Amino acid sequence: MTLFRLDGKRALVTGSRGIGLAAAGQLMELGAQVTIAARGEEALRAAAQSIGAQWVVADVGTAEGVQAALAAAGAVDILVSNAGGPAPSLPSGVSAEAWQRGFETTFLSTARLAGGVLPGMREKKWGRIIAITSLTVGRPALNLPVSNAMRAAVTNHLRTLALEVAADGVTCNTVAPGYTATDRLKALHASPADAETLTARIPARRFGQPAEVAAAITFLATNEAAYITGQEILVDGGWGI
Ligand code: NAD
Repeated sequence: MTLFRLDGKRALVTGSRGIGLAAAGQLMELGAQVTIAARGEEALRAAAQSIGAQWVVADVGTAEGVQAALAAAGAVDILVSNAGGPAPSLPSGVSAEAWQRGFETTFLSTARLAGGVLPGMREKKWGRIIAITSLTVGRPALNLPVSNAMRAAVTNHLRTLALEVAADGVTCNTVAPGYTATDRLKALHASPADAETLTARIPARRFGQPAEVAAAITFLATNEAAYITGQEILVDGGWGI
């Protein structure tokens, strides 16, 4: 038997850069048919074409965007829910508007997407719901209060959902990246000095690569990961030890 194949499976991956794109590429390499959903058409089309995926323009922070993504992807077997992280700020200074935006983009996107794909997965008795969170779930970062709160909510929502649907062959897990060399990291830690200070604090002494986070996502999507559910997999070079 060939291990880790995803032939015949349909995947919906949200986010067309960084970790999302790397995961989409790996799922395709294992034989899945992949649809990528993101907001900016030009970059999205180029990214999807670079790996041969299908694509749909959708803002997953809105109900309409989630509907558009689900409609374009068809009967989804594997959901990878991922979007940009909330903007930095101090915890004492988060506006109601920023909380709302974070709630919609980071939490509600996953809850809505998961709700949309679940009926079909339960019927087929096979499904994988995987959300990308952050190392900040376990160790809150001072400057990312909205991310810290919303990702903890995503984590516990998927753990709760896992309780309900485990007997239907549907697994629900989160993958929590550590510091990973993507545009998001460059935006948050722009200066070389900042990057050097940060890598010195990571036990692996380097940033992760998108493909290393994607490998955990891809593994969770396989048949072989059928008995792993309700878990958070940290891919962080030892940061959280
Ligand atoms: P990224 O910024 O490189 O990519 C995010 C992708 O999501 C982009 O393609 C963007 O277009 C898309 N996106 C953003 N908002 C969207 C929306 N509303 N609807 C549809 N698509 C949307 O980010 P990344 O580094 O690949 O990170 C992926 C996730 O992992 C993010 O949530 C990020 O916060 C989290 N994370 C990243 C790191 C890191 O070091 N890179 C660390 C911890 C957590």
